[in-house]
Amino acid sequence: MSAAPLVRGWCPTAWRPMAAGDGLILRVRPRLGRVSREQMHVVADVARAHGSGLIDVTNRAALQLRGLRERDWTSALDPLIAAGLVDHDPVREGRAMLVAPDWRAGDDTHRIASALLEQIDALPPLPGKIGFAVDAGALPVLGASPADFRIERAATGALMIRPDGRPTGAAVADGDEAAALIALAHWFHQSGGARAGRMARHAAPLPDWASDTLSPASGGVAMAQGDHPLGVAIGLPFGRIDADTLDKLAALPGVTGLRLTPWRIVLVEGATSAKLPHVGPVDLSVDACVGAPACPQATVETRTLATRLAPHVAGRLHVSGCAKGCARAAPADVVVTGRVGRFDVALNARADDAPARSGLSADDLIAFLESHPDAA
Ligand code: SF4
Repeated sequence: MSAAPLVRGWCPTAWRPMAAGDGLILRVRPRLGRVSREQMHVVADVARAHGSGLIDVTNRAALQLRGLRERDWTSALDPLIAAGLVDHDPVREGRAMLVAPDWRAGDDTHRIASALLEQIDALPPLPGKIGFAVDAGALPVLGASPADFRIERAATGALMIRPDGRPTGAAVADGDEAAALIALAHWFHQSGGARAGRMARHAAPLPDWASDTLSPASGGVAMAQGDHPLGVAIGLPFGRIDADTLDKLAALPGVTGLRLTPWRIVLVEGATSAKLPHVGPVDLSVDACVGAPACPQATVETRTLATRLAPHVAGRLHVSGCAKGCARAAPADVVVTGRVGRFDVALNARADDAPARSGLSADDLIAFLESHPDAA
């Protein structure tokens, strides 16, 4: 195992699974971030039959089925394609789109995302990590979630297009939003964006029509756990759910589907709190990647350690199996990073920042946290 993280520059898809320490990872990107009740059962069946039964919800609101066997991951595709969860075209399946998860049929987010899906073949070749965000509710909520080309609600109330990494964008006429996203993707392609890999790293001057001083509206917040007008929002510890739980949620009376969010929360459409008596709030202030042994880049276990450390941290805790920091790109109040079987720790830092202390054991970490009252 290596101490340095391996940066692959591509994301696993259903058509291009990624090898991990616990088998293949097969990523499913449900259309509009919604899985119907029937599709929930299909995902659960496939996860059990072909994998470990463990499913992660990613920070791009995709589902990752874990532990698939090399020899039969292609068999897992057939039911997913038949259920409309995976496109039969690998290129189309590679297009990542995040939507504000509380959309309603016919609203701006639904209308624009549907239009983009209809025109998806008009997109140019793009690097695998490139993604779109349609965030057209009353206030933007996806600003901290990964996406390269965004449609957002502006402070003026208009809809705007904004390339990631630029603080402002330009107004888009009603009905032109999907075409504007596609045009911006073509500009990215033609101006050499593939070399940068992501929009935020692409410094080329924007076309005039996409460059203006419109700011996104502020004040939008991520969905909270608990009752929601569309159902009940439940937190997932470390973003994970298992196939049996997915089946049970789908079988609840009144449930019509599942909305995926980038915040380790799923919205169970049509559910009521009374039907979910055993579901309590989850501590979402702790981030931890899968770590060892599921990730071949990790030399340390992460999630048991994170649960042990959490009571010693007052703010946000991030435990990362290596410096890549998959579970959290932003700084955390306390970040613990695995390195060659031991741990580095830093305050107000990212997983790849310089550590305050290195080579610690789990007990050393607790002693460190207790000696830093600003962290505990
Ligand atoms: S951060 Fe965690 S999941 Fe990501 S590569 Fe490192 S060990 Fe693996």
